Amino acid sequence: MSRCEFKLLLCLAVLLLSPASAGAQQKPAELVFTGGKVYTVDEQQPWAEAVAVTGRDIVFVGSSADAKLFIGDDTEVVDLEGRLMLPGLIDSHCHLRIGGQANSVMLNLFETMTEPAGVSAEVIRNHAKTLGEDDWVLGTGWSPSQFPKPTRQELDALVGGRKAMLADDTQHNGWYSTAALQYFGIDADTPNPKGGVIVREEDGKTPSGHLLEKAHMLAGFRQTPQLFTLAQQETAIKKGVSLQNEQGITSIIEAASMTREGGDDPYKRVAAMGELNLRVSINTVHFSPLDDEVNLKTIQGRPFQGTEMLDCRTVKWAIDGVPGTMAFMSEPYKDGTHPPANYDQDRLNREVDRYTEMGMRMMFHCEGDAGIDMTLKAMEYAHATGKPLGMDDRHIMTHLDHVQPDHIERMKKLNIIAQVQFHWAAATTYNQTTVFKNVRKELVDQMYPFTDLIDAGLHVGAGADWPTSPEWKPWELMQVGATRTMLDGEGGRFPGESLSVEQMVKAFTIEGAYAIWREDIIGSIEVGKRADLIVLANNIFEIKPEELSQTRVLLTLLNGNPVWGAKNFEKVQPTGESVEYGDYVPGHFCEFTLPGVWRPKKSESK
Ligand SMILES: [Zn+2]
Ligand SMILES: [Zn+2]
Repeated sequence: MSRCEFKLLLCLAVLLLSPASAGAQQKPAELVFTGGKVYTVDEQQPWAEAVAVTGRDIVFVGSSADAKLFIGDDTEVVDLEGRLMLPGLIDSHCHLRIGGQANSVMLNLFETMTEPAGVSAEVIRNHAKTLGEDDWVLGTGWSPSQFPKPTRQELDALVGGRKAMLADDTQHNGWYSTAALQYFGIDADTPNPKGGVIVREEDGKTPSGHLLEKAHMLAGFRQTPQLFTLAQQETAIKKGVSLQNEQGITSIIEAASMTREGGDDPYKRVAAMGELNLRVSINTVHFSPLDDEVNLKTIQGRPFQGTEMLDCRTVKWAIDGVPGTMAFMSEPYKDGTHPPANYDQDRLNREVDRYTEMGMRMMFHCEGDAGIDMTLKAMEYAHATGKPLGMDDRHIMTHLDHVQPDHIERMKKLNIIAQVQFHWAAATTYNQTTVFKNVRKELVDQMYPFTDLIDAGLHVGAGADWPTSPEWKPWELMQVGATRTMLDGEGGRFPGESLSVEQMVKAFTIEGAYAIWREDIIGSIEVGKRADLIVLANNIFEIKPEELSQTRVLLTLLNGNPVWGAKNFEKVQPTGESVEYGDYVPGHFCEFTLPGVWRPKKSESK
């Protein structure tokens, strides 16, 4: 080897071994984090110590030593002191509008759902006393184990004869006062809608005040938003966003914002105010009880391209109901019931094909094995009919409680995303009292095979389906995913394999980004991506699985701006679920009017 060749090799080696920037002072960044454990979710460089941010973007990821090159006179430098930094989390199934309402402008009965019925009854009574005679009593979160057979008479007494609608913890069923039933035009002559039941009194005719599934969806569930003022609707969105930010969530799929009634409008208004501190991908809804031409009109009216912060291009479908009672199964439940799906196969095929041909993305709620099979048949029909489905269409099947090996293969063929709820794989009170009792044990043992979905190479996204369960924080979901037990360890272990923290972080980050077509700008910590970053008080890779739910977020950055916490980590105290609206951290940085182009906030002088 000549000296010249040797020198060339040496040069190449230096180039390969060190970042291109090594040694040379860089344009100073606005913000530099050093001395941390940065888990990037970037396979090329999974761990780093430092991250530099300018404006909304990440400009450097690497060692603390190299980060010094990005520090200038005006750079804000934050020593992470060994703390864990992750990409901002993405919840790919969240009913944020409902969760926000429940925590602000609605009576929150989730908080007492595990108490005796009398406790919740007192909460309802006291709340009603604060209202005017004509005001609605709107609440959510009571448990059917508290009120197995709720009646309108009982509610009338609690609310002093006011109009009252209280959704249960699943959001699938509602408890109505007599005045509320009148308001919605539900009486002895109203037939049960397909997929729903109006529970009757002893005469077999008069509504008892308990509306199940589609009967509730058509009345209170769908129309609740309009019973609030515009300001209340906006308060609810901001409240929901602030609660998510506090848990490190920077993006969501809003799973089912209503169509004709404009459930997406409050998001647009809050975004236009510059106060939407969250990326939101809104789903419009194909509503099975409605006529298909009515659905077409309303769905066509809602989608909008939006911006990278807010868009709507997905149609959500509810194929069946909850496991143990209403999920569409290939065999009857142990109690002899065998409820059908919300669609028949021909209608679903035709309708799914219609919307996939229009270029929209589908997201299917499907829980029973027959419901999952029916959904796949409809997708296979849409693939074979007219324009084939594209491998990059990113259709989603959500819940997948009873997914079977052959379903997984068929999902893989069409590259369908599996969207799952880690926290459902535990011996929850609901599972103990309903699923374990009413579903054959062999079928229970096969439920929630999360690792099979991942091992098959499917894209697997995580989501809480907030606020349908008491557990909703990503850290709570991760604990159940890792242990398959309830947070307190009670009730024993749910059958099936546990997930690793790495697998779950991936589902909450880059896979969530994939599910909203944002993997080019978020989901991992890489140069050129948006600075959606979170700093944790504890290292989830080092603590015991049963401690994961105790994780606290000290700082959440969205587009480089703090939306939760502070860079002075010691001062950050958790506010818990019941923070009052007003603790919300304002960040007027997405100043756009819809439709329009997203612009970052001009960085403030420090
Ligand atoms: Zn669902
Ligand atoms: Zn949902």
